Amino acid sequence: MLLCDFHIHTTCSDGSVELGRVVDLYGQTGFDVIAITDHVVNGDTPMGRLAHRFRLSVRADTFDEYMAGIQREAERAWNKYGMLVIPGVEISKNYLTSDKSAHLLLIDIKEFIPACLGYEEIFLAAKAQDALTVACHPHYMTPKTDRDTLYLWNNRDRYARYIDAWEIANRDDVFNVISLKKYPYLANSDFHKTRHLYSWKTLLNCEKDITAVKQCIRHNRGVAITLFRK
Ligand code: ZN
Ligand code: ZN
Repeated sequence: MLLCDFHIHTTCSDGSVELGRVVDLYGQTGFDVIAITDHVVNGDTPMGRLAHRFRLSVRADTFDEYMAGIQREAERAWNKYGMLVIPGVEISKNYLTSDKSAHLLLIDIKEFIPACLGYEEIFLAAKAQDALTVACHPHYMTPKTDRDTLYLWNNRDRYARYIDAWEIANRDDVFNVISLKKYPYLANSDFHKTRHLYSWKTLLNCEKDITAVKQCIRHNRGVAITLFRK
């Protein structure tokens, strides 16, 4: 099965490891498929404006450069490690309360999508690009923080039909509500630092190409999770 991680941050947003080093770290560890998913933060709150100012968000004017960097590294990763690197973003709608906040991975993105759009608009724009949509850390995290992102879970009756998969595990957390609801699932590291390599991961039973990977996740057959440790 393919060892995969679909939720990885770099210094293009708030990660501490530069893109090239991230690729070498995962390549040397033997991963088959990774997605780079730096934050795209909503700029319509004071918090969001700060994130933009301090370059903790990919923005409309830095998106092309971001994508070109991933494309370059994807070619290098394929040639050197036989590892598939997929471009993505984490749409990060941050508000003062957990109930209003949500994070959403868009995997295999092609065009910039601003995080201040409404949810329906974001989902439809993602579908138009054939990007995979993944609800991240969708329930209470441990320890409980005011940075939980509960909006999509609390509004699942309205939005589940747009969501290709939900994170059933994120780094060290497991969200059993996803299995109880029988939603399609993935497990990811939410990598920000080197030590986050050791965390929950996804195994996929499919070919190592982008179409097969997306199809496997959407159908959610041949998917397993594993706690990857040293
Ligand atoms: Zn997040
Ligand atoms: Zn993240």
